[in-house]
Amino acid sequence: MSARSEGKKVLYNKVGGLVVHGSADTYQRHRCRCDECRTANTAKVSAARTRRIKQGVPAGVKHGVSTAVNHGCHCDVCTQAIAERNRLASQERRNRPLAADDKRHGTVNGYVSWWCRCEACLNAMRRYKEERKGIK
Ligand SMILES: [Zn+2]
Ligand SMILES: [Zn+2]
Ligand SMILES: [Zn+2]
Repeated sequence: MSARSEGKKVLYNKVGGLVVHGSADTYQRHRCRCDECRTANTAKVSAARTRRIKQGVPAGVKHGVSTAVNHGCHCDVCTQAIAERNRLASQERRNRPLAADDKRHGTVNGYVSWWCRCEACLNAMRRYKEERKGIK
C-alpha cells in the first residue's frame, strides 16, 4: 500500500453500527479516503454529472442552439455547434484588433487569441517560447 493511501479504518455510525466501506456516503459523511470509498464516491459524482447533463437540456430544445450547448450537451450536433462558435469567435477577434491601450498587449494571450503582432505581443511570445525551451 502506498504511503498516500489511507487504508480502511473501522468506523462506527451514530448508533454504534459498523460503517460499511465502499460507499459514497462513507466517503462524504465519515471522510473515509480508503480506496473502496474513493472509488464509490468517484462513481457517484460522475453518475450525478451525467444525470445532470442528461436532464439539463429541457425537452423540446433544439440541439445545436446555445440553450442546449450551455447545458453541457455533448451530442454530435452540439459539439459541432461549439466548434463552429469557437471558430467564429476567433475569426471575429482576428478581424477586430486590440485597441492600442488594451491591457492584453504584451501577453501570450494577445498574440495567440487576438492575433496581435505588435512589438509587445511579439516579445511576450518570444519570451514564452524561450521559457519553454529552458524548462526542457
Ligand atoms: Zn472507506
Ligand atoms: Zn445536443
Ligand atoms: Zn499587441
